[in-house]
Amino acid sequence: MSRILDYLVGRQEAMVDTLRQLVSLDSPSDERDAVNRVADFMGQALEAEGAHVERVPQLAWGDHMRATCGGGDRQILLLGHMDTVWALDEARERPFTVAGTRATGPGVFDMKGGLVIGLYAIEALRVLDSPPAHRLVFILNSDEEWGSPTSRPLIEESGRQSDAVLVLEPSREGALVTWRKGVGRFEMEVQGVASHAGAAHERGVSAVQELAQQILALEAMTDYGRGTSVNVGVVQGGNKVNVRPASAWAEIDVRVTTAHEGRRMEKAIRSLRPANRNATLVISGGMNRPPWEMSPQGDNLFQRAQRVGADLGLDLWPAGTGGASDGNFTAALGVPTLDGLGVVGEDAHALTEWADLRSLPRRSALLAELILDLGR
Ligand SMILES: [Zn+2]
Repeated sequence: MSRILDYLVGRQEAMVDTLRQLVSLDSPSDERDAVNRVADFMGQALEAEGAHVERVPQLAWGDHMRATCGGGDRQILLLGHMDTVWALDEARERPFTVAGTRATGPGVFDMKGGLVIGLYAIEALRVLDSPPAHRLVFILNSDEEWGSPTSRPLIEESGRQSDAVLVLEPSREGALVTWRKGVGRFEMEVQGVASHAGAAHERGVSAVQELAQQILALEAMTDYGRGTSVNVGVVQGGNKVNVRPASAWAEIDVRVTTAHEGRRMEKAIRSLRPANRNATLVISGGMNRPPWEMSPQGDNLFQRAQRVGADLGLDLWPAGTGGASDGNFTAALGVPTLDGLGVVGEDAHALTEWADLRSLPRRSALLAELILDLGR
């Protein structure tokens, strides 16, 4: 029996209480002060564990945080995000609730449970006097749900210096994540010519009609066989029913499984031409998170985790997903990356989101034992 697992099972109540406090702190990505309150909370908790905590101040977003434990020249990077997709006051309307072994509340699964798991793994290593051979760097960012526009350089810089990257995003049914699709974000602006819908219909160029044709072309690029999908998720156009619309606009989400396919799709979207010569298209955007492709080094890391998990009585298997995480950045750099090490549960970004509280000590023990194992 693992001392670490024993210890953490005894800490389950404390872990649940920490999770309750974190879920009570609303942290929408675009609410700087709110996200900073999570940073204050986690910063204090990590400092209490002896970590050296640095805030990386941001103007528009909440601060990012980098907590370092231990020394040495080899490094393991832990990744977690403090922001959620939920608005301010969500926690008041839908507070943290425990029913049996399940907890609900905004962000309980994605991914405040993962922050708790990271924190208590560090606690267990300190309390049980089992310092890892590696220096641990725990990055907590504030803008993950928006594609990590400002934290990406920080993550990539620390990732490059690391032997392994362990991502504390949540896990469906207990699987570990070994690949993720890449994500592209594009915007299409269509300009037409306004005219009276009754008196001069023929003189107008409908931007809405043009956009409708572009949407069909975009959606037709979806190819499930290749693992490629295009979603025109937001459209806007026109402003009066009796005017030929002069402008229309769409926001497009693209998912791909390989970097090569990402380049192909970027080119295909950027080469779209207007169906009506009198309309103009302005296409902006590009690939945001690169695909995380399966790799031998990623597979080795998974197998190590699987072995460590088996010693703890955990049955672990690899899985992939169309959803991206910050693990995409480090995996694309060739750094061994493993994800889904966070809390087990389901329904990220949905009102039905829940977390399995029994997984808190077990996953935390898995993380701590994996960190030790990587030093052997
Ligand atoms: Zn997440």
